[in-house]
Amino acid sequence: MQITSNFDGGNILVRDIADPGDAHLEIRRDNQSDFYQWFYFRASGVRDTPLVLHIDNAGTSSYPPGWKDYRAVASYDREQWFRVPTDYDGRRLTIRHTPDHDSVWYAYFAPYSHERHQDLIAACQLSPRCRHELLGATVDGRDLDLLVLGEPAPGKRVCWVIARQHPGETMAEWLMEGLLERLLDDEDPVARQLLARAVFYCVPNMNPDGSFRGNLRTNATGANLNREWQEPTRERSPEVYFVRKRMEQTGVDFCLDVHGDEALPYNFIAGPDGVASITKRVLDLQDEYERLLMRSSPDFQLEHGYDAVAPGAANMTMCTTFIADRFGCLSMTLEQPFKDTVDSPHELFGWSPERCRKLGRANLDALFGILDRLR
Ligand SMILES: [Zn+2]
Repeated sequence: MQITSNFDGGNILVRDIADPGDAHLEIRRDNQSDFYQWFYFRASGVRDTPLVLHIDNAGTSSYPPGWKDYRAVASYDREQWFRVPTDYDGRRLTIRHTPDHDSVWYAYFAPYSHERHQDLIAACQLSPRCRHELLGATVDGRDLDLLVLGEPAPGKRVCWVIARQHPGETMAEWLMEGLLERLLDDEDPVARQLLARAVFYCVPNMNPDGSFRGNLRTNATGANLNREWQEPTRERSPEVYFVRKRMEQTGVDFCLDVHGDEALPYNFIAGPDGVASITKRVLDLQDEYERLLMRSSPDFQLEHGYDAVAPGAANMTMCTTFIADRFGCLSMTLEQPFKDTVDSPHELFGWSPERCRKLGRANLDALFGILDRLR
């Protein structure tokens, strides 16, 4: 057996794989930071071989509760990602799988590659309703892409949707794909109305460097981008620096920041509740958005999420809180599971790219319901 990860998004350290039935691996830390949880590797020469793959350092990863009731994803064609039996004993994560083909890829969640990102940008810009802007360069020299959907005009609502500040949360870009596809469908009545009355500024991948490097949480300088919003710099966090600068030009009436949560097996929203300047009007809007989203998608729920933050106690370095305060607008973090949804589980795929896409589409129904009251 060979195990390799020298490709876009790859992450694994090989310790001892002499016995495929008792192989030992470790997850590599994000560069210049101690975060780790994302893994993605290929096992070769394994057809019909009963594999037992131990990830020995799982117990000291960034979010150990993330491994409880978690199942890894596997793929033979890198298109369809299915779940495989996975155990966690409090220390090691163990994947047990007998592949049907010579090579198989394993990952924490269905990867979203840089090539696919570029295909997404290319496909969107072909639409007459979409323009592409290059916001700037990342630390590793990658492009930071912005898609503008709809024609800017006075009186139109300004909606920002950003995804994947944390690069290992690939579900965020899968969700973005569904949202963009629907917005650009000129036979979708909700999309047509939204673009008639609003302009969308969408950043499908806030952290292309961390994504390519196979990081969980940080960019090329070791910065956690979702703690950089108060004082981003071109050197340390150019991704946030460029996006914030563009937001200052457009103004913001609505901001959705899309993430994944390692531990909680639910889709949920974290709002700006701890922001000192937040108004009842904005909190009521959030409430209604969540109710509309739940009605549009049974994969979303209201019961489980993060604990409410006391007034004035919010961490103001995050996108959601910073934007809510700076623009006095509805600003939310949407979290999706790495595992599955407890209320609507899917045995074969768990939470999956297709389900992410559909939740992305459903978000537009919720937004449609409150659009006129955003300002
Ligand atoms: Zn996140």
